[in-house]
Amino acid sequence: MEKIKMITPLVEMDGDEMTRILWKMIKDELILPFIDLKTKYYDLGLKCRNETDDQVTIDSAEATKKYGVAVKCATITPNAARMEEYNLKEMWKSPNGTIRAALDGTVFRAPIQVKGIEPCVKNWEKPITLARHAYGDVYKNTEIKVPGAGKAELVFTGEDGQEIRQLIHEFTGSGVIQGIHNTDKSIGSFARACFTYALDTKQDLWFATKDTISKVYDHNFKDIFQEIYDKEFKDKFEEAGLEYFYTLIDDAVARVMKARGGFIWACKNYDGDVMSDMVSSACGSLAMMTSVLVSPDGIYEYEAAHGTVQRHYYKHLAGEETSTNSVATIFAWTGALRKRGELDNIKELMEFADKLEKATLGTIESGSMTKDLALITSLKDVNVLNSGDFIKAIRANLEKSL
Ligand code: NAP
Ligand code: MG
Repeated sequence: MEKIKMITPLVEMDGDEMTRILWKMIKDELILPFIDLKTKYYDLGLKCRNETDDQVTIDSAEATKKYGVAVKCATITPNAARMEEYNLKEMWKSPNGTIRAALDGTVFRAPIQVKGIEPCVKNWEKPITLARHAYGDVYKNTEIKVPGAGKAELVFTGEDGQEIRQLIHEFTGSGVIQGIHNTDKSIGSFARACFTYALDTKQDLWFATKDTISKVYDHNFKDIFQEIYDKEFKDKFEEAGLEYFYTLIDDAVARVMKARGGFIWACKNYDGDVMSDMVSSACGSLAMMTSVLVSPDGIYEYEAAHGTVQRHYYKHLAGEETSTNSVATIFAWTGALRKRGELDNIKELMEFADKLEKATLGTIESGSMTKDLALITSLKDVNVLNSGDFIKAIRANLEKSL
């Protein structure tokens, strides 16, 4: 078979630990034999980030802006233990944070559904995609532990000297206060990313906050979404037969439990954090979830939703067999290849992505899977495979379909 040709390169961001091992296996077994792969390669492994003073992360984000589509392996976010383990010059920032800030993006996550791994919520026939705003609110807060009686106030001082002052509470004893913020610019980017992704994936969009209680803060999110929808997206949604609707977060939760899936649920930062964990756990495994960062001007970065699977990596280093699930990382590659095919109009590349996903799911449905799935599957006669053999089984399946 002749290899599929590419036009524009993908930005390839290599990573750390067990996922770095899987990365190479996936490329060697599932990509390179079939595609004349073009990538701009950036090594975001912690060693290289340390050697380049994290410049490699910034360069990879710039390259993503230039080329439009990236695929990223999971990476270590350093903490005190990693400082010692890798003898780091500095506690480098999370690469995901750096890339997100550069692309001004929103993270979309959806469970990968497969026969034999059923969601606990019986009526979820199609995946529910979570869109999480990744800036501000409680994640950039300022907090004070109030020691005793006194007055707490909220004060804004404008550059022009204008002052806005409001009483938070007259404390008669000890307590706590918290200040949070968001910006219209970031909320606007979030809204545009959600509307664009809904059109792109042909799904309805739900957005929910608690605006009945938070009459200024949450109401501002609701208003910005509505304004951008009316001005920029209403016609396109109507043309595509899609729906955008806003509802209260409590109502959204109740509806989600009764829904059949197949829509995008846009959430503020905290709601998205909690609700995406709920949706993915209800669907079985961290490794059965896709994740893509989308910028408002249509730049895409595909990754797995899980981390570098450190515990498995140490087993691997000790020469023990591992059974690490590569599905999310394979789907990061198929997502990126399909998008590249779409943008460059290469039908074969899009079809290859579809076939590789099918071969992956087909392998699991035929009973061959990694240990994490074997523990929860409803299938009988399960064949538990190690990390490498699972990828080889997918290759055998893929070759049958090519
Ligand atoms: P993790 O890599 O997500 O793994 C946590 C546990 O979940 C694993 O020990 C394993 O459970 C299970 N698991 C996750 N992915 C799996 C897979 N593909 N196949 C089978 N089981 C899987 O989180 P972590 O070990 O706490 O974090 C390791 C590193 O990842 C950290 O340094 C963190 O900074 C980084 N991280 C990176 C990203 C990213 O780049 N997107 C995201 C999160 C974390 P068992 O051990 O029970 O088998
Ligand atoms: Mg969480």
